[in-house]
Amino acid sequence: MAKLSDLGEKSVISRLLEIFDPDGLRSMGDDCAILDRGDDYLLVTTDMIYEKTHIPKGSAPGDVGWYAAAINLSDIAAMGGTPLGMLFAFGLPRDTDPEWLDSLVSGIQECCSQHNAPVIGGDTKENDSVTISGTAIGTVRKSQMLRRSGARPGDIVAMTGRLGRGVLWDRDRGNTRFLLRIEPRVKEGLHLASSGAVTSCIDMSDGLSTSLHHLARSGKVGFEVDLDRIPMMDGLDRKGKLKALHSGGDYELLFTVNPKKIADIPGSAGNTPITHIGRVTEKGVTMTVDGKTECLADEGYEHFGKGWS
Ligand SMILES: [Mg+2]
Repeated sequence: MAKLSDLGEKSVISRLLEIFDPDGLRSMGDDCAILDRGDDYLLVTTDMIYEKTHIPKGSAPGDVGWYAAAINLSDIAAMGGTPLGMLFAFGLPRDTDPEWLDSLVSGIQECCSQHNAPVIGGDTKENDSVTISGTAIGTVRKSQMLRRSGARPGDIVAMTGRLGRGVLWDRDRGNTRFLLRIEPRVKEGLHLASSGAVTSCIDMSDGLSTSLHHLARSGKVGFEVDLDRIPMMDGLDRKGKLKALHSGGDYELLFTVNPKKIADIPGSAGNTPITHIGRVTEKGVTMTVDGKTECLADEGYEHFGKGWS
């Protein structure tokens, strides 16, 4: 009997899309679902975390709650949206400590209030292990929406922040707060959307390499990035940096900019640095390392493959 683990997450999603959207008319490949509301689009996205794959042992519940909210808001950010609200469905074991739940929900509340996304509904059920499913709703002006498609050869490739969070945590296995307290780039996404200079955008939830391949497929273009330009967190050696290209967990925005309008994108959005890391090409995803150009394979995180041990 075949198993989902034989297929991997990407093939599983393709099978679902063949049923839900066989003609590809619903644009289900973006970071959020898009609903036409006249002048604006309504953005809706859902992302679930599960004890075994997303919650390292020893995590503080407040950090877990923050993370569950942040990963959803990150998808609204990737489309240049303004959050409107969030819903949460909890699957919880019978023996869950009510105080643990209070702390979890406080973490959710903290992240949601910081981004003006009040929790407006949800569901609670008994389950064998902790499962938290979030849904974020947002809105964006039609002319400002950022999509995964739209990059053109010659565009500049840039990103917010730095890579390496997942690799550093995996190496040190110390601070789960560092891993889970990711900052959804909502303000930065709004800033990019209002510039009118950004031609495509995605949040790097599954790693830089996978995100570049997503943008390449959606835009029918290629990418060339330069390893030395990619901003990395402190403390990573060469091997760590190469690993960080394929590691999930950074949730930074990766985007392309029309070179004629590059002056409209400053070097930072608030306190978040913006770095030019490469350019859009006709096809193929490549990386320059020590002057040599090599293929950058799509090796980001995939569910139904290996999870966190
Ligand atoms: Mg995303």
